[in-house]
Amino acid sequence: MQTNGEEQKPSVDRAKRIRFLRRLILASIAGAIIIPICICLVLAIRYDRIKTRLDQAKEELSWYEQQYGESALARGKGDDKPLEKEDTAGAEEAATADEQPEEDVASIPEETLEDQTDAEEALSENQDEKTEEVLENADGNMTVGDDVRRVYITFDDGPSSKTGEILDVLDEYDVKATFFVTGKPDTRYTDVYKRIVDSGHTLGMHSYSHKYSELYESLEGFQEDLHKLQTFLYETTGVWSTRYRFPGGSSNTVSKVDMSELINYLALENITYYDWNVASGDDRNGITKDLIVTNVMTGVPKFQNSIILLHDASDKQATVDALPEIIEQVQALDNTVIVPITDDTLPVQHISNLQ
Ligand code: ZN
Repeated sequence: MQTNGEEQKPSVDRAKRIRFLRRLILASIAGAIIIPICICLVLAIRYDRIKTRLDQAKEELSWYEQQYGESALARGKGDDKPLEKEDTAGAEEAATADEQPEEDVASIPEETLEDQTDAEEALSENQDEKTEEVLENADGNMTVGDDVRRVYITFDDGPSSKTGEILDVLDEYDVKATFFVTGKPDTRYTDVYKRIVDSGHTLGMHSYSHKYSELYESLEGFQEDLHKLQTFLYETTGVWSTRYRFPGGSSNTVSKVDMSELINYLALENITYYDWNVASGDDRNGITKDLIVTNVMTGVPKFQNSIILLHDASDKQATVDALPEIIEQVQALDNTVIVPITDDTLPVQHISNLQ
């Protein structure tokens, strides 16, 4: 019996060890499967949280663009990478600044110029040649035998909290202008869109989203945005707009799509696009009312047809303040009329239709 007991004990121990090892192996296998799954779950949850925050940040950015104009966001951005979501908002200002005739730029105080971001400076270098084209095109618009100078006052980026004041000033002087608007579905703007039309001003399009990263990413993106705005404006005002101003102008250097593709598409849709030959500089932060007036009045006498670029945005009180003086000084010029853009307007186009 004793002998049998001694023989059985090692075999019991061995069976225990085998069971233990088996459990250990199974636990290791289970661990090897479960731990990576847990890590994946944790990472997925974190990714989701970060994505949500990013979306919120994008929405806020978009809201600020709508509320304060993209210029406020463009300041202080020193990165010159084109068409990065955070950077492209400043491109219109950069392009706008660059389209100014040289005399106008020279009249801007050095401090203001120093405020320009690196991106603007980089774009400025790229667009020096384009500026010359603008002047040539504008000269080409001279109408022989018609000595009446036509001045077109245009406002980009509206409607905004300033549109009402702008419309009041225009009413006061009985002057008609052109508004290149964006899509703002907020119902508080419904009557503003209507008032622009009912007052006899021209309603033009300036993209629904005004987001360079969407507009200029692909032809399809541009088409979608264009039709969204055209339909929105028709439903809001009854006007089927056939006039367009590219955010950043047709000579912008941020578009990933060749601008000639977009220009040809507009032509197919019977939409005319208008750039400008007189930049007021009102997109620059801190510009004074007087400098806006000076910039405009330096540019207007150079052309038989002047298309003045102004902005309708909540942070642009200086533009509103400058408007009466601009109107008075333009009206004081000989043989000069201020008129809204119509089918008779010879468009100023920074780059010509290549179709
Ligand atoms: Zn704009």
